[in-house]
Amino acid sequence: MSENLLDDALSRISRFAEQADVAQEVIDSLMQPRATKTASLPVRMDSGATEYFTGFRCHYNNQLGPTKGGIRFHPNVTLEEVQALALWMTIKCAVMDLPYGGGKGGIIVDPKKLSPMELERLSRAYVRAMADFIGPQTDIPAPDVYTNARIMGWMMDEYEAIHRVKAPGVITGKPVRLGGSLGRDDATGRGAYLCTLALARKQDLTPQDTSVAIQGFGNGGYHAARLLQKAGFKIVAISDSRGGIYSSEGFDVESVYQEKQRSKQVKAVYCNASVCEQVDHDAISNEELLELDVDILIPAALEGVIHRGNATKIRARHLVEIANGPVEADADEILEEKGCIVVPDVLANAGGVTVSYFEWVQNRQGYSWDAETVQERLSERMERAFEDIWEQSRQHNTGLRAAAYILALKRLGEAVEAHGTRNYFNS
Ligand code: NAD
Repeated sequence: MSENLLDDALSRISRFAEQADVAQEVIDSLMQPRATKTASLPVRMDSGATEYFTGFRCHYNNQLGPTKGGIRFHPNVTLEEVQALALWMTIKCAVMDLPYGGGKGGIIVDPKKLSPMELERLSRAYVRAMADFIGPQTDIPAPDVYTNARIMGWMMDEYEAIHRVKAPGVITGKPVRLGGSLGRDDATGRGAYLCTLALARKQDLTPQDTSVAIQGFGNGGYHAARLLQKAGFKIVAISDSRGGIYSSEGFDVESVYQEKQRSKQVKAVYCNASVCEQVDHDAISNEELLELDVDILIPAALEGVIHRGNATKIRARHLVEIANGPVEADADEILEEKGCIVVPDVLANAGGVTVSYFEWVQNRQGYSWDAETVQERLSERMERAFEDIWEQSRQHNTGLRAAAYILALKRLGEAVEAHGTRNYFNS
């Protein structure tokens, strides 16, 4: 994996800047985050002892609106990772034409080692530290790896207690009863599913003849797998942090999910009501999953899993990136040379931030939309963004990642130009 994820993310900005043909000021504005806060979070553990966790929040760029991005709980969180993720959020929000800049947050912690009450105290400690750094008009967090709706609810509650206001728009991905949006729980997976359908149409893939491997069976991976299987795609491989399963016949996604809820492991089962039976399969590692000969590979776990060291071994014809940054910058070219079409993270996983935006709009309106409206509007946005990027890729004769960055840089460029650049002031 790359030593410094932020350098990796910045190298793509530099690479695509020329093709985007935007003013140098635009590129300069993206070369460093606007502000990053690091905080030590004291948490009373169940044992009575106080432990200190490190938390980060980054406002990368707010040219297009308040910063927006998830909060990750993971032992490998670093400052640079949070900054890179915030830069990708900047690009993603611009790609989706949302009135947001990019932000991100994280805590260095293994949440599996905390009790539910310790987790609540940690979530609240994070908001106490960041209470003046986040806000409905300035920076709006959401869930990410190992954070969920319940945690968002605790965080909103803490923010409201500190500021003595009701402010549901401070955070998205909340439980529906606490101001969350219908359709937010599966929005990331649904967005990836919609991108996969659009890709299949462009590439003349018939779902029944299309094999899909999914690395990571959490919020994003599970819902994408579920919807794709419903549409007829064959889900031949699934994995989580403990390893994976493969069957050329394909798995019943709901059965595997039901079993994972029960045993916390991905197991090859078919369930009839609550009775589950094992089905034929091969146990595979996460590395093996990535190298399977499949039509579509969906990395939906963590960043940097495809890199210079293994890119030549990737046999999938298409990649749909649910994870943020699963492919390192120096593997882009290798995949391109192999003819692998990559639907990039800044588009493929943008369903989450899009419905988060809908949630924020509903919170500001004080009016909630029904699930059908949310899904319709998500489909419209995803299909439009996919078409825009496809069109850019034709115009510039580039892959979809370059096309997405070109589109985002142009939109950010319009905001910078609106204030005036060197050309304007010197003419
Ligand atoms: P999650 O916590 O719900 O699930 C993560 C999954 O990845 C789990 O199944 C876990 O077991 C698995 N995993 C962890 N380490 C792994 C490893 N080394 N190898 C294989 N699997 C591993 O997280 P999520 O919300 O589904 O997020 C997954 C990815 O999608 C992240 O990169 C995240 O940034 C991105 N993403 C999520 C959202 C969202 O709304 N949830 C939105 C945009 C992007």
